[in-house]
Amino acid sequence: MTAFSFRVTHTDGGARRGQITTPHGAIETPAFMPVGTQGAVKAITHRDLESAGAEIMLSNTYHLYLRPGDDLIARRGGLHRFTGWTKPILTDSGGYQVFSLSARRTIDEQGAHFRSHLDGSAHSLTPEKAADIQAQLGSDMAMVLDECLAHPAELPAARASMERTLRWAYRARDRFLALREGLAPDVTVSNPGQAQFGIIQGSVFPDLREESARQTVEVGFEGYAIGGLSVGESNDVMYEMVGATTPWLPANQPRYLMGAGTPEDLVESVARGVDMFDCVLPTRNARNGQLFTSEGRINIKNLRYAEDDRPPDPACGCYTCRTCSRAYLRHLFAVGEINAATLNTLHNLSFYLDTLKRIRDAIAFGRFERFRLAFQQSLSRQPQDQ
Ligand SMILES: [Zn+2]
Repeated sequence: MTAFSFRVTHTDGGARRGQITTPHGAIETPAFMPVGTQGAVKAITHRDLESAGAEIMLSNTYHLYLRPGDDLIARRGGLHRFTGWTKPILTDSGGYQVFSLSARRTIDEQGAHFRSHLDGSAHSLTPEKAADIQAQLGSDMAMVLDECLAHPAELPAARASMERTLRWAYRARDRFLALREGLAPDVTVSNPGQAQFGIIQGSVFPDLREESARQTVEVGFEGYAIGGLSVGESNDVMYEMVGATTPWLPANQPRYLMGAGTPEDLVESVARGVDMFDCVLPTRNARNGQLFTSEGRINIKNLRYAEDDRPPDPACGCYTCRTCSRAYLRHLFAVGEINAATLNTLHNLSFYLDTLKRIRDAIAFGRFERFRLAFQQSLSRQPQDQ
């Protein structure tokens, strides 16, 4: 079994290019992780996901825990065997969905207590339980349970939440190490090479971010995530918080900005030293008819595309752009054809994954600042469809 490791191969200003090695293969960083909530990226097959260039998929612990259940998945040999996706998988802790989806949730020092959004059944998610579920799922990277604070938050509430997240980080790490050593016989460890990431909190307060980063690093994880951003704060504040966090994280371990974001968010965060991203934007927007292109965002529903024979993005080489016109995609969307979601998703993911590839190439050749400037300039010239 290959152990988890990370190495930085190039740096360019604050940006890093590197490689993560996991028991299910390597990931070139900076990397984008398509979101496969239920063990599949919505509307496309694993084969299409691979052909678009994805090297890793993210799956949601909350959803898989409720249906079909982590016990069932562990009996199938873990998430890789169950889903047939053979490349690396990262799972979240389930916390974000508990905070955003579940009914009648209460949070105390022990954890989160909630009722399923599906059938109202009662559940508790503690730092230990989140580690157990992810051990059974057998992802390559597991996240600790953190407290997701609503935005905006006042300083005292943000401090209390950050400190609780830190106490939970110690409990999650203790449980993770116990699982690794086989001290929890009632839990199936589906992937003995799993790594665990700590999560930095601290809302929009730079001092709290620094404190959270320093203290979470003291717990000792294989990687570190920046949480609690992309929740409604302005872009400038998000970039400032990323910049206030990364200097305190170990240079030789991966850094993951959770839940962000737009292509410009990715470029600006890479500039500040982030290695990994996930976001539902490319897949969700695709299903709503919005396409990300090198010439700006287009909404394929618009009448102006009804007789437009150009591909969605003339600069893109994906299957959708090679074979479909805007006129055809608009027709498919207008009549509610399932293929519209598939073709749009394939393009949007290709655009994101290709953008990350261009970022990696730019870093390797010492041209990242030039790439970043050109990216900003092209964005400012782009008309954005609504
Ligand atoms: Zn395309």
